[in-house]
Amino acid sequence: MDKKRCIIFDFDGTLYPIIEFDSEQLLIHTLAAEADNAYRKEALRFIADDQAGCFLLEDFHKRYAAMAKRATTSHIDAVGRYLSTLVDQRDVQALITLKEKSGAHFIILSCGTENLAEAFLYHLGIANLFESIRAKRLDFAEEGKATLRIDIHTPEAKRVAVEELRMHYDTIIAVGDGPTDMPMLEAADLGLLIKWGQSAQDDRFETYPSLPSLARRIESYLESAPSADLTARR
Ligand SMILES: [Mg+2]
Repeated sequence: MDKKRCIIFDFDGTLYPIIEFDSEQLLIHTLAAEADNAYRKEALRFIADDQAGCFLLEDFHKRYAAMAKRATTSHIDAVGRYLSTLVDQRDVQALITLKEKSGAHFIILSCGTENLAEAFLYHLGIANLFESIRAKRLDFAEEGKATLRIDIHTPEAKRVAVEELRMHYDTIIAVGDGPTDMPMLEAADLGLLIKWGQSAQDDRFETYPSLPSLARRIESYLESAPSADLTARR
């Protein structure tokens, strides 16, 4: 495995299109479906506040940690299974082909939840494409008392994580979908945006409507990048 290049992906909105809820909102929504009225009301308010952009990230993590306490591994699995239906075989194949052609390490840096990303990849059969996932992690050591460990807690933490990867990689490509990804895209050699199914362009970063189109761009960048030339001759 060539260690000289890595491709970093955000999770929510990048590896799958957000339809109504992102993965964490979906988890809370799933928990609400089997909870009492009080929890249901609180869950709906939490999701509405999040969608309206009412939270500072630290406040969000605190409320999410409290609401996700009752989550189990089967809730995580159910959300991952549902999210996997939002992408199709062409998207999955594009990632597999990109991995084969680039020889790059795939890393997820997200302000979301690692377990949800893992469940999503598992249901697509591509968990093995990714070398690491850094985000927040739910720990299920005690039944009914899931605890949250926060690794990547802010967009700036994503930038720092990219900078730390510099000592391991010559070429770093980052892919995201929104404002929380900007520091990570800035810190990469090539930062790209995905806007699922849209032709809208961002002023600062090249924007692509699908994973296959994005993967082709990354392949052509790596073919022309100087450090890629060196590794290609091996
Ligand atoms: Mg995102």
